[in-house]
Amino acid sequence: MIRPGTYYSPVCDKCGTTDTGSDYEAWADEAAALDEAIAADWCEVDGQLLCPKCQVCHVCGEQPRTFGIGPGDNNVPLCWEHERHYEAEEPTDGQ
Ligand SMILES: [Zn+2]
Ligand SMILES: [Zn+2]
Repeated sequence: MIRPGTYYSPVCDKCGTTDTGSDYEAWADEAAALDEAIAADWCEVDGQLLCPKCQVCHVCGEQPRTFGIGPGDNNVPLCWEHERHYEAEEPTDGQ
C-alpha cells in the first residue's frame, strides 16, 4: 500500500505561488522543501518565504540583484547598490 503522508511545499508568503521551477512540488520533509526553494532563488526574510518575483532589496525596496542568500551572513535580497554597501561594510580604510 501507499500510505498517504504529509508533504511540504514551498509557498510564497506574498503571492502564494508554489512554482520553484522544480519537477517536484512537494517534499517529504520541510528542510528538503526549503533547500529546493533556496536553490531556486527563493528567500526567507523575517520568517516569510518569498519567491524571486516578490523579493525586494532589504534596504531600499527596489528590485534586488541578489536573490536568495545574500552576501556573508546577510540572508536578505539586495539590489546592486546595496549589495556593494553590504560588502563594503567591513572597514576598508579607503585612503
Ligand atoms: Zn511571490
Ligand atoms: Zn537597495
